[in-house]
Amino acid sequence: MPLTVKTRRQRSRRIIVTLLSGLLPMLLGFAILYLQAERALEQSTRLTAEEAIRQFELMLDNTAQAARELLPLAGKSCIDVNLALREQVTRRPFVRSTNLVWDDTNYCSSLFGDFREKIEAGDYSNGTLQLMKGNLVTPDSAVLVYRIGEGQKGALSTLDGYHLSNVLRMIGRSTILMLQVGPHWLTADGQFHQDPLPALPVAQTRLGSSRYAFSVTAGFPEGETWRYMSSEYPPLFSLLIFFGVVSGSIGHFVQKRSSSPSHELQRALEAAEFVPYFQPVVHGDSKKWSGTEVLMRWKHPKEGLVRPDLFIPFAEHSGLIVPMTRSLMQQTAALLAPLSTSFESPFHLGINITASHCKNLELVEDCRTFLGNFAPGSIHLVLELTERELIEPTAITLQLFEQLHALGVMIAIDDFGTGHSSLGYLRQFNVDFLKIDQSFVALIGTDALSRHILDTIIELSAKLDLGIVAEGVETEEQSDYLTAHGVNFLQGYLFGRPMPGEDFIKALSHH
Ligand code: C2E
Ligand code: CA
Ligand code: CA
Repeated sequence: MPLTVKTRRQRSRRIIVTLLSGLLPMLLGFAILYLQAERALEQSTRLTAEEAIRQFELMLDNTAQAARELLPLAGKSCIDVNLALREQVTRRPFVRSTNLVWDDTNYCSSLFGDFREKIEAGDYSNGTLQLMKGNLVTPDSAVLVYRIGEGQKGALSTLDGYHLSNVLRMIGRSTILMLQVGPHWLTADGQFHQDPLPALPVAQTRLGSSRYAFSVTAGFPEGETWRYMSSEYPPLFSLLIFFGVVSGSIGHFVQKRSSSPSHELQRALEAAEFVPYFQPVVHGDSKKWSGTEVLMRWKHPKEGLVRPDLFIPFAEHSGLIVPMTRSLMQQTAALLAPLSTSFESPFHLGINITASHCKNLELVEDCRTFLGNFAPGSIHLVLELTERELIEPTAITLQLFEQLHALGVMIAIDDFGTGHSSLGYLRQFNVDFLKIDQSFVALIGTDALSRHILDTIIELSAKLDLGIVAEGVETEEQSDYLTAHGVNFLQGYLFGRPMPGEDFIKALSHH
């Protein structure tokens, strides 16, 4: 449609909307997958941490059992109990050494026998566990010491760090897993650390044992979410791309549809943007107003007032011209019917009708409804049919025009002289008026040969006993010439331009 010529801005807006409608669902889907991957990783680290806790508790149960069995021996001479200490080491799979304590002094060891070492209670996390870098025999292999005490008596059993790091390695696999006891912590490679525990960037989970004073931290290194997504979600990515393309195409299609001429006209019709303008038609002799032609205007919200020749062809093509004409007739009746009682002689109301409106008998009903609004006999409804688009004489159209005439509706051939209507045609449809096209009126005052065509048309209509309306009268010279040649009705800027209903009603009262 000429009035919706696509500017560069509109085109780029359309491309942006298409891209957004394709990209947004993809980005949304991607974000959902990212969150899903994070949740899956968090669940995985939680399960890993829970499993590690379970394993460490089992190992500590075994180690604690050794200490519990040795506790009653505390205070006895080391030589007497040394065998019992060693027996626990041999019998228990995870126990590396055992010790007896009296009054906070470690005095007997399964490794060295008689022994003296002061024990600080604060060394032990929660009083029962201490993670050490190593012991005197294996200074580079971490040990976890379990302590039990009762009065002056005390017993220690140590859990081999090798077993601990083994558990961290086996359960952790792709997860980073760390065992923490008080301020010290152990990694899967068996390394003992005492600096602050590092934060794990992805899906960090920290769980504490409910039975022993240790905790486990599990998590993943930087970038694990992306790695997980790229290994687990390729089919979903393909699906996302597919949906993106589909949604982008839908976006493109919807925009195309909503900017299509018929969609735009439908919208305008619903928004009542098509309004009637009125141009007076005057008597050739007296120049008094004899009637008006109703001309459609589109009050476009952005483009302003749009001329009918810019949109009528699209309205005809989309079939919307019929409801648009109906709306125009309703508005015309609403505006002029209240004045109809004051019309002295029948006022001519010319309505432009297209051939598509004549395909069935609906037009008869439309005219009946229209006329029903006015005081009886106060108006002459004249349907203007352009000669450029002649109506085929079929059974239906002949019946239609018969019924229209029976209703008192008159027929005018618009733009007469530009088409090829024959005499037979004019008779068949019982035509009442010929509207001489303004291109012929414009010839007045030019060379005699051209003017001859105009004279012939006037003569012809006089012979056929048809009323003549001359369109496009702009000058006094044209008006005088036409009147002198017996043209009954004149229409043109000389007498009045098409105007809105309110202005027309005001002007009408002066005429
Ligand atoms: P038309 O039926 O031949 O209407 C006369 C056209 O000439 C109108 O243009 C009018 O404004 C213009 N006109 C009137 N006096 C003068 C004048 O002295 N000088 C010049 N240069 N022009 C003059 P408009 O309103 O732009 O309408 C253009 C055409 O659009 C109409 O030609 C008609 O074919 C069509 N049209 C208008 N309203 C309707 C409608 O409601 N239904 C249908 N189907 N077609 C319509
Ligand atoms: Ca017309
Ligand atoms: Ca015309």
